[in-house]
Amino acid sequence: MADRIFGEIPDNPPGTTYASRREAWAAGVHRETMAGICGDETGSESIVVSGGYVDDVDDGDVIIYTGHGGRDPDSGKQIADQELTKKNLGLARSHLDGLPVRVIRGYEGNPAYSPAAGYRYDGLYQVTDYWHEPGRDAYEIWRFRLVKAGASETADVQAGDPAHRVETTVQRIVRSTEIANRVKDLHDHTCQICGIQLLTPAGAYAEAAHVRGLGAPHHGPDSLDNVLCLCPNHHVLFDNGAIYIDEEEMVREAGSRKVIAQLRLVQGHTINQQYVRYHRDHYMSDS
Ligand SMILES: [Zn+2]
Repeated sequence: MADRIFGEIPDNPPGTTYASRREAWAAGVHRETMAGICGDETGSESIVVSGGYVDDVDDGDVIIYTGHGGRDPDSGKQIADQELTKKNLGLARSHLDGLPVRVIRGYEGNPAYSPAAGYRYDGLYQVTDYWHEPGRDAYEIWRFRLVKAGASETADVQAGDPAHRVETTVQRIVRSTEIANRVKDLHDHTCQICGIQLLTPAGAYAEAAHVRGLGAPHHGPDSLDNVLCLCPNHHVLFDNGAIYIDEEEMVREAGSRKVIAQLRLVQGHTINQQYVRYHRDHYMSDS
């Protein structure tokens, strides 16, 4: 799959309409002419919501989307269980990595949110959850909850008109996701403190932790040299100042100053000491 883009396609802002699936395909917004999900096991870049599955729910900012597969093309009925592979695994992967998913609505979807004719690109969504359950035809289906990017954004956005604010938020999410995933890839989703790689059915999971926090009052940069790849436990401990990194890149417990581990480093990823010092100064009373 060449030219994969997670995020917006240039010259196709939200609200852009397409007469047909073919036209949306040609624009690069949804690079599948039949399938509802575009992507593979490394992530899904776009979905079409057009009432194809009886179990789909479209509430505008929140979509419950049914996975791919197991359906009889003629009757539209589910005739087999869906599996967490390929395109379905891709949406799960998008959840794990926080990748944005383009949502295209078709004329056959919920009339409250769908175009009267053709297709419309409706912006970026994030997969916030996924699970399986029996569908209406009694076979197991995979379901994905997608929430519009920036929909619940409240803090830390610049003033200005709402459209600009959402655009800024979306750009930030896309950029932030790119950096986070670069760091996670460099470390093979392995925690830089404990060396544990968490495996889930959708693949390895890790979190990107900013050393000097983003936003007020820290105003740390969203850059490679300010991000650690951590497991959720160490992410929480680090963010709350329960652990810190010393001058020799040893990880220590805040109270006892006991060494927990040496920070695991890989080529191509160095942490700026300035941010490590900031984190230390911020959380340690007498460092
Ligand atoms: Zn860890």
